[in-house]
Amino acid sequence: MSKTTKNFETEVQQLLDLVIHSLYSNRDIYLRELISNASDAIDKARFESHSNEAILEGNADWKIKLVPDKNAGTLTIRDNGIGMTRAEVEENIGTIARSGTRAFMESLKEKQQLNNPELIGQFGVGFYASFMVADRVTLTTRRAGGAGCRWESTGDGTYTIEDCDKESRGTEIVLHLKEEMKEYLDEWKIRSIVKKYSDYVQYPVVMDITREEPAKGVDGEVIEGGGTIEKTTEETLNSMKAIWTRPKSEISEEEYEEFYKHISHDFEKPFRTIHYSAEGTSEFKALLYIPAHKPFDLFMRDQKKGVHLYVKRVFITDNCEALLPDYLRFMKGVVDSSDLPLNVSREILQEDVQIKRIEKNLVVKILSSLTEMKEKAAEDYLTFYTEFGPVLKEGLHFDFANKEKLQELVLFESSATETGKFVSLREYVDRMPEEQKEIYFITGISRTAVENSPHLEIFRKKGYEVLFLIDPVDEWVVQSLTEYDGRKLKAVDRGDLELDSEGEKKEKEAKKEEATRQYGDLLGFIKEKLDDRVKEVRLSGRLTDSACCLVADEYGMNANMERILKAMNQDVPESKRILELNPDHPLMRVLSGMFGKDGSDPRLADYCELLYDQALMTEGSPVRDPLRFTRLVSELMVAASEKL
Ligand code: ADP
Repeated sequence: MSKTTKNFETEVQQLLDLVIHSLYSNRDIYLRELISNASDAIDKARFESHSNEAILEGNADWKIKLVPDKNAGTLTIRDNGIGMTRAEVEENIGTIARSGTRAFMESLKEKQQLNNPELIGQFGVGFYASFMVADRVTLTTRRAGGAGCRWESTGDGTYTIEDCDKESRGTEIVLHLKEEMKEYLDEWKIRSIVKKYSDYVQYPVVMDITREEPAKGVDGEVIEGGGTIEKTTEETLNSMKAIWTRPKSEISEEEYEEFYKHISHDFEKPFRTIHYSAEGTSEFKALLYIPAHKPFDLFMRDQKKGVHLYVKRVFITDNCEALLPDYLRFMKGVVDSSDLPLNVSREILQEDVQIKRIEKNLVVKILSSLTEMKEKAAEDYLTFYTEFGPVLKEGLHFDFANKEKLQELVLFESSATETGKFVSLREYVDRMPEEQKEIYFITGISRTAVENSPHLEIFRKKGYEVLFLIDPVDEWVVQSLTEYDGRKLKAVDRGDLELDSEGEKKEKEAKKEEATRQYGDLLGFIKEKLDDRVKEVRLSGRLTDSACCLVADEYGMNANMERILKAMNQDVPESKRILELNPDHPLMRVLSGMFGKDGSDPRLADYCELLYDQALMTEGSPVRDPLRFTRLVSELMVAASEKL
């Protein structure tokens, strides 16, 4: 195929501009990114060669070579990794493959956050970083067994791509350095960057070093007065020590940080590092990190998740999802097993017993680290929880084995906390008034929505704390977490509430009998009018100020769940709820008066509808027919003003 010129996707160009403009203070990392890519490519070739030796093409001398050329003003990064086909080049470079990225760029643009370097670290910006130092980048590559291809761009919105011959397998990137970036040709500059950022890369990063040496004779002896000669040797610049195999005491914080950045492509420091060796039934080393911030795609389907898996220091796969349950998908790191066979196939990892054992061990370790953080560094735990709490909570639904630990780790806002502050279940139970029997919660879309719910009125009056479950995942959480410390978790908008003491109960029974006598027929009338919408109309024990509210029966679907399922485009079965009315509200007296005077008053039917709509609105649900609602309210206002 001949040479063609193509445009970058708009987002790529934006990303590129973003990288160039926001990372300039941290420019050196371009080399780390390219070396990381090269090392990943060698990992892949090495892995594939276990099952297909032909791809080696006789070259298994894995290395990454850096070639500075002062005359040409270029720095070349060459690897003998897996290489790319032309289609792969087009797919990986010049387009943004991950679907969430586009939406994220849009949201950054909206928030005018395009020049925030911390945020751009969330992309795999790797290759594009080269345009910080180069005004032209030429990438020549050949996949093992395939044909070569050359890609070139000046980073100005277009690139060219053409077929070409390339003798050796792998990728070569030539950076035509900008005039003011020529320092990157300096041997010591290159050495120091490699040492700082890529020391642990497990393949040799090499460079030809030419030194002047005194001339020697055939016998190897220095020739007196023989002058000097230039001698070039290929030197390895990195130590190649797999950081996770080294003793903790010998690893500096900085080294841990750099390794984290290498594997996560994050530009920020990790929040916590967990490094340990497991012995016994399963032998492995793990170096795990909790990132400081959640990635933008944490809740997207194509999020890159999982830790890197090695077997005896040989890379197997970089996103081993089987090693951690989904609710810990924010963790980054490396696991190096001594038990798995080297030729383990990626497909069977999901089923492998050894992997399952490692997973179990990792989960226990991570959860106990979190427990320790919660107990000893509460502020830190809060920071962690604010980022990752909603994901961690998924564990309550999916990881029955660790439920005990997880329920101590989850936190909720509540009617007794300020916005953004949390209470744990333990604290909740510890501060429950003695007569309170159960743990109460309300689910909803936001704090504001639940805070003003009429369902909370009786709890406020009694001084009982109510947990605010306002993450979408909470509806699932409460399906699994039905009890804590021997106390039931109870939704305030569901079923009957048993809040009263014996004395209060008796008093209320008497009152209820009286009210039923007074309002019984009216309740029947309202039920008849709203028959297609409600299951029952009854007097409420949970309202003190509001006139009415809707409650689900013990096992029915509540408003929040209905909303969530609808948002997920699921068919939601029509579920009728119970309309509860406050017998002490003036509205009841008015309605009862009208009803007593003339049960066929046409306004009564309208009022029933308004009552129902009120109940919907106070819980944040939409009314069925807003036009009709406003018309009824307007008519009421006119009628009221005419009476004045
Ligand atoms: P990231 O490394 O975060 O995926 P990059 O933009 O650096 O992002 O690279 C995009 C993709 O291009 C990589 O995932 C890889 O598939 C491919 N790639 C980059 N460099 C090389 C290389 N040296 N050899 C083979 N493939 C490469």
